[in-house]
Amino acid sequence: MDVLKKFVLVITILLIAPCATAQEIAQEIPRNVSPAEEETASPLDFSIIINSRVRPLTTIMENTVPYFLLSSVFKSLSPNVITVNMTDSTHAELFISEEESFNFDLKSGVIKEKEGDKTLSSDVIWKENKPYIRFDFFTRALPVILNKEVSFDATTNTFFLGKHAEIRLNYKVKATPQYAVLSLLFPAKARYRMEENKETRIVRIIINSQFRKPDANFLTLSNDYFSILDYKLEPSRTTIIMKITDKVKTVSKAFDRNFNRLRIYFYSPEFYNPLTDTLNQALPIYKPTSGTVHKVIIDPGHGGDDEGAIGPKGIMEKDITLAIAYKLATTLKERGYEVVMTRYSDVFVPLSDRTGIANTNNGDIFISIHANASTRKASGAETYYLSLKGTQTVSDTVAFENRQLNKEKKANASKKNDLLFILWDMAQTEYLKDSSLLAEQIQNAMNTLTGIRNRGVKQANLVVLRGLNMPGVLVEVAFISDPSEEARLVQDGFQQRTATAIADSIDRYKQLQEERMKPALNTPTTAGTSQ
Ligand SMILES: [Zn+2]
Repeated sequence: MDVLKKFVLVITILLIAPCATAQEIAQEIPRNVSPAEEETASPLDFSIIINSRVRPLTTIMENTVPYFLLSSVFKSLSPNVITVNMTDSTHAELFISEEESFNFDLKSGVIKEKEGDKTLSSDVIWKENKPYIRFDFFTRALPVILNKEVSFDATTNTFFLGKHAEIRLNYKVKATPQYAVLSLLFPAKARYRMEENKETRIVRIIINSQFRKPDANFLTLSNDYFSILDYKLEPSRTTIIMKITDKVKTVSKAFDRNFNRLRIYFYSPEFYNPLTDTLNQALPIYKPTSGTVHKVIIDPGHGGDDEGAIGPKGIMEKDITLAIAYKLATTLKERGYEVVMTRYSDVFVPLSDRTGIANTNNGDIFISIHANASTRKASGAETYYLSLKGTQTVSDTVAFENRQLNKEKKANASKKNDLLFILWDMAQTEYLKDSSLLAEQIQNAMNTLTGIRNRGVKQANLVVLRGLNMPGVLVEVAFISDPSEEARLVQDGFQQRTATAIADSIDRYKQLQEERMKPALNTPTTAGTSQ
């Protein structure tokens, strides 16, 4: 059966025949979308879209009918759509507006309007003392409660408030001299695939869901890297056709699961990124240490839906790293350094892009800022530089900071060029001595200025440091998992002292490097005098 017909039929059954039996409902609910060749963007669990965000519904199957954990239903709707107040473990009040509210009996499944005569019901079952509500709560009860249409897309198992056909795709474009990114924000869970014809330079994005065109301007979208040729809405799928320009050397994609965002990268030959740009075959160029520091690349760890570690009070690592990074940037600029940050706001930047940004901007040193976490009791600061030794036992910290890559690998399963990786790793080994010198300065200065326990300099195979064409370190400024250090991490004063300590150590490193280079520079002169 055509999926669209199927979808209409499901809704018809649920709306026209509220007395439909569980068996009848079950027959029309798709549990398995036929396996296709395209990538699965996300597992096809049930979800509801509220304000363009996918809210998951914890689903169980009971006699082949989906039931949703009521707390996940309430969590998805509250507080944007309905405010839920649990009066006791089996009764809830649902507030729609100041005038309109309902009483919900979680034992009988009866939902009754407080000051009106609307009475609705859905089946509630209890498992391990937790209530689950039947599928048709969304399609029969909720439209009456909200006085609003609720749609269901059977291809993606997603509920929508409002008419499905009104759901638009959103997009963002970013273009820099080295690369451009087109972000497509799917309004619902969707499966997609990308096809690239290298001869005609046509790229097609095929999304297995119907989404309306973002806006009229989308079709006229054109820049140095690509132009949109067509946006086709066909039954159960959407196709975006674009042409890439001669400036583009590589096209790659990454999928951000939590936000259902597909990002398509268009790289120019000037953008060399060892981890994503394997087609470019860019070889590392070892640039000898200039013996001084002009430009510092600051990498605030994590960002966007990658929150990093979360402290006992709920403080997120991504916010702390960005705050310290800004303070460090300001301090360094005041001291005459040039600064580039790998992110300037709360956005997700893949680890490999951070390396790419650093290399493209030709930095002299790279400082990645993080906050540590441990399940055991731990406190203090530690600074890492790269080790290429593969170790059997990987510490919690290293596993955690590298974790993001696994996500990216799944999203972008392109074949990696092993030789290229080895060459890039070798490039970083050239800087290991410098990196270790920088790490030592940071540990010493941090201990003096912040009073945080010195856990020392460590070496580890940290992904963000691999492929870096300059000395680089990763600083774990304190343990966000430790209640007292979490409390300090949010303090402006502590953040500034940490930034000052890192800036001081960069000054010291610069001074040591300049001293080290001096005799070499003076050699010809000395030789000349002795003659
Ligand atoms: Zn981190």
